[in-house]
Amino acid sequence: AKASGRNTFRFFTAQMNADAHERLVMLSHLRQAVQRGELELHYQPQVELATGRVVGAEALLRWQCAELGSVPPARFIPLAEESGLIIPIGEWVLREACRQARAWYDQGLELAVMAVNVSALQFHRGDPVEMVGRILRETGLPAECLELELTESLLVQDGSGTTLNTLRRLKALGLRIAIDDFGTGYSSLAYLRRFPIDKLKIDRAFVRDLASDPEDAAIVNLIVDLGRILKLKTVAEGVEDHGQLAFLCERGCNDGQGYLFARPMPAAAFAAWLGSGPL
Ligand code: C2E
Ligand code: CA
Ligand code: CA
Ligand code: CA
Repeated sequence: AKASGRNTFRFFTAQMNADAHERLVMLSHLRQAVQRGELELHYQPQVELATGRVVGAEALLRWQCAELGSVPPARFIPLAEESGLIIPIGEWVLREACRQARAWYDQGLELAVMAVNVSALQFHRGDPVEMVGRILRETGLPAECLELELTESLLVQDGSGTTLNTLRRLKALGLRIAIDDFGTGYSSLAYLRRFPIDKLKIDRAFVRDLASDPEDAAIVNLIVDLGRILKLKTVAEGVEDHGQLAFLCERGCNDGQGYLFARPMPAAAFAAWLGSGPL
């Protein structure tokens, strides 16, 4: 028993070393990803449920690493956040999304809003207002065409009023603020009233089993009602089937995003999809 215990321990540390090693390797590649042009944005439409009109797109980061192949965001975004690399990467994402939105705008493609994910580090380190303002000027994208997706945990990270101040200054640029993954974080009804927020994105976890799980259905109902009361738009994430769509429509959720409408697509495919009027 002792021997096998020791073996187990050995195996375990070996596994840990392998994980740590893998992370180091990934990090060293990620450092070069921006310069090597390995990062790309894909775009997923957001659809107004009542009309089927495409009202926006969310920019989602993709990494095609020369050595590691395609690495999903769930694996490299946390690493980028821990290492601080999310700052230059996030700036690249914002610039590229705004540049693309402006190009589509010039081509007359009807797309009201480009939504961009912003991580906590980007928001709390440096000067996000300066960065966003500068990128809007550089790319010429009208501020009202930009929406920043922030998570709840990001918003409640400090109680000092700095967050509120930053949000107000961002809003003063003319852009919109959405809360991502709403309902999964440290929900506080107080900040919803206090912060200048435009939209709640209902997390996919609540949408998935809408038809079969009464508790999930109740939570979605609650968030949609909350949005209506506080005059915030609601967007459901992860809409995959017509049952979910019918429920959300009936409840008066404003917009939806999910595989039912379209998967995230490279820019050219998104433009073709948008231009062909598929809905
Ligand atoms: P998120 O912001 O909640 O993005 C939505 C995720 O759900 C995306 O995963 C999208 O591909 C996926 N999705 C959309 N519709 C459906 C559906 O109907 N069914 C299912 N099963 N999934 C759906 P993705 O692209 O893998 O991104 C994962 C997460 O990585 C994002 O979650 C976001 O937190 C983060 N992320 C992605 N791009 C960026 C970025 O540019 N900056 C930052 N800070 N985070 C990013
Ligand atoms: Ca998001
Ligand atoms: Ca989300
Ligand atoms: Ca999510």
